[in-house]
Amino acid sequence: MNYFHYQDNELYCEQVPVQKIVKQVGTPAYIYSHETLQRHFQAFESALSPIKHLLCYAVKTNSNIAILNLLAKWGAGMDIVSGGELYRALQAGTPPNKIVYAGVGKTADEIALALQSGILMFNVESRAELNLIDKIAGDLGRKAPVALRINPDVDPLTHPYISTGLKKNKFGISFKQALDEYLAAALLLHLEIIGIHKHIGSQITTVGPYMESVNKIVELVQRLRQNGIDIRYLNLGGGLGITYNEEKPPSPQQLAETLIPLLSPLSNCTVIMEPGRSIAGNSGILVTKVLYCKQGEEKNFTIVDAGMNDLVRPSLYNAYHHIQPLQIKERGEWLTDVVGPICESGDFLAKDRKLAKLEAGELLAVMSAGSYGFSMSSNYNSRPRAVEVLVKGDKFQVIRRRESYNDLIMGEMILNL
Ligand SMILES: *Cc1c(COP(=O)(O)O)cnc(C)c1O
Repeated sequence: MNYFHYQDNELYCEQVPVQKIVKQVGTPAYIYSHETLQRHFQAFESALSPIKHLLCYAVKTNSNIAILNLLAKWGAGMDIVSGGELYRALQAGTPPNKIVYAGVGKTADEIALALQSGILMFNVESRAELNLIDKIAGDLGRKAPVALRINPDVDPLTHPYISTGLKKNKFGISFKQALDEYLAAALLLHLEIIGIHKHIGSQITTVGPYMESVNKIVELVQRLRQNGIDIRYLNLGGGLGITYNEEKPPSPQQLAETLIPLLSPLSNCTVIMEPGRSIAGNSGILVTKVLYCKQGEEKNFTIVDAGMNDLVRPSLYNAYHHIQPLQIKERGEWLTDVVGPICESGDFLAKDRKLAKLEAGELLAVMSAGSYGFSMSSNYNSRPRAVEVLVKGDKFQVIRRRESYNDLIMGEMILNL
């Protein structure tokens, strides 16, 4: 469900014609819908309302502080994976005691900063990290609240690059070693063990992998309790998929209805979930302008002004995004690749797509680009990053200005030795 729709053959975001925004801010442009974000967040809130819960939005999916600020206002906590994300979350007004911090490679500086900020907990991914957090907490005269991230060895049935809960993945502590690691952690003086965490992957479109991993985790928590380790927070991670093309993922409501009964043995726990894509993904589009059309010997190319530096998902995961013109008109269709200006053959937004035959200057919307879009963008080929705009009702506002050429060389210095 989202608030992008056609009215009189023209694409609107809420009550604003997308074309009107683009006339003002140019292309490429990321455009987000306030109402869609809110609706997706509320869907999780109401789905989890029967149980004690905290929603920690996964900052990495779309980390613009305007978006974080809205979510924080609606009551969201944040799931962060770096010192930079901690900074963003705090700048956006997130209460520190709603921030959870995951990631296999937290540095000592990042750990100290997070401890001093008073975050809710670290989701710890190894014994070595437990030891380091314990030492830093001791040096700072604090106790560090921790959960262990457990890798339940469950196949999320998604793209290998976004599966995280298999034995061969770098994430978390193996299910087999979990009890030993908890017992070892319990001996560390400057840790307070409060939770357990799992996150098995992203763009998961069936409830099966969730059920399997939750069952394993619930059983483990009961075993931990028998061993004197009290778990108060049960963090089920993120990963709920969205519709890019034909996928039919469960709704947050359906997911919650499936999982809540499985959690009944642990009714005194607070359940944390870390949705990212399912909140922001279909809340945003990337608008791009057609520069040229080219009929090759074997293929047709629609060359646009957004490239893999703006939206890397097609290049990185062979991901599918709907692409549609801002204006629907009578025109011929052809089979075309939609490609960017970057000097890489991997620079494409779509392959062999049946699309309207557009003219130079016409505008296209790349749909479902609100997650892992701008946040994964780069300056490759020295391309300034796109502008970001948030629409609310009949109004819109730039929430990150387009980068300038000067931004590109910020911080660089010509050698003067
Ligand atoms: C990426 C990530 C998420 C969010 O995943 P989505 O698929 O965007 O919901 C949640 N938790 C952790 C630990 C992550 O790494």
